[in-house]
Amino acid sequence: MLRYTNAGRVVGGPGERIHYAPMSIVWSETQQSRLGASWVAESSRRPRVRRFELILPESVDDCVRALAQRGPEAKLLAGGTDLLPQLKNGLLKPARVIDLSGVARLRAIEPADGQGLRIGSAVTARTLELDRAVRARYLSLAESGALVGSVQVRNLATLGGNLCNAAPSADMAPPLLALDAEAVITGPKGERRVPIATFFTGVRRTVLAQDELLVELLVPTPGPRSGGNYLRHTPRRELDIAVVGVASQLTLANGVCTKARIALAAVAPVPVRATAAEQALEGQPVTPERIARAADLAVEVARPISDQRGSAEFRRHLVRVLTRRTLTTALARASA
Ligand SMILES: Cc1cc2nc3c(=O)[nH]c(=O)nc-3n(C[C@H](O)[C@H](O)[C@H](O)COP(=O)(O)OP(=O)(O)OC[C@H]3O[C@@H](n4cnc5c(N)ncnc54)[C@H](O)[C@@H]3O)c2cc1C
Repeated sequence: MLRYTNAGRVVGGPGERIHYAPMSIVWSETQQSRLGASWVAESSRRPRVRRFELILPESVDDCVRALAQRGPEAKLLAGGTDLLPQLKNGLLKPARVIDLSGVARLRAIEPADGQGLRIGSAVTARTLELDRAVRARYLSLAESGALVGSVQVRNLATLGGNLCNAAPSADMAPPLLALDAEAVITGPKGERRVPIATFFTGVRRTVLAQDELLVELLVPTPGPRSGGNYLRHTPRRELDIAVVGVASQLTLANGVCTKARIALAAVAPVPVRATAAEQALEGQPVTPERIARAADLAVEVARPISDQRGSAEFRRHLVRVLTRRTLTTALARASA
């Protein structure tokens, strides 16, 4: 585990690999090259980011130890696309930043013992967009990854960062709800699994304790005749957040819908499942009329706000339209 301070002083304890490096080098090796250096303190001489200790763990256990040592004063850093602006704006002033980029397990996508796919929390949106295994069985997740920011942002932005930042508009959350994914969380008390549907507890709040990290997502394999889709509406095509996002997943057997999942983003403090709409589809053939009925029912779970991106009424309209469209595409994909 490597440790630095942004003053270049070494703060490592016995037995740790210690590197003497001024913060400018640390930044250029790690974060600076990721987001562009325009805001980094070097140029202005006056640090705008409060001094902190940067930890570069190489294993999940190292992360847990590094978190436990500093408690609430520590902050995890994945791609930094949410965190670094928060540091820059002074919204967060951690004494210790733990950079997850060197932990191989967090970047892995691998089969989960016949149960589906394990997707490491530090897998980027760009990887999800392009990965063959993800595209083959979990297309809605790949579609959500492809919608995040620009290519530059997607090369940094991670799945775990998107979930742990817990914005109501987080694009990668609804497909995971629709796919019945579980979050694998670890901390000093060991590992636990939480259905992603209960992972979010409020705006920017999750079930994670301050000394825990999200290790990976466990996504079950959808049935053989299953299809999904994620769509969102934004006023601008790129570099904007969802006004509404909808993920749908349908599984069929003998022409009948055996499982329906519909999950909505940006219409409530947390991503929500439209369970009444799902039940209206299950156990019967999926027809355009039933899709329209499900879309109407999905609107009923939406509790949107009005803001500069759209009124609550507009958001309810979008839920209806996007639910109908994603169900129609999911049906076509499941039937193909
Ligand atoms: C220009 C721009 C465009 C964007 N567009 C979109 C968009 O279209 N859709 C969208 O959903 N988002 C968008 N975002 C937001 C952001 O890119 C995503 O939320 C991204 O996925 C965050 O991932 P990250 O790796 O950068 O997280 P970070 O910024 O590194 O971390 C975010 C938060 O999660 C915590 N965290 C990270 N990893 C873990 C972990 N493993 N365990 C516990 N806590 C962890 C961090 O401590 C921090 O609090 C955009 C951001 C920018 C700057």
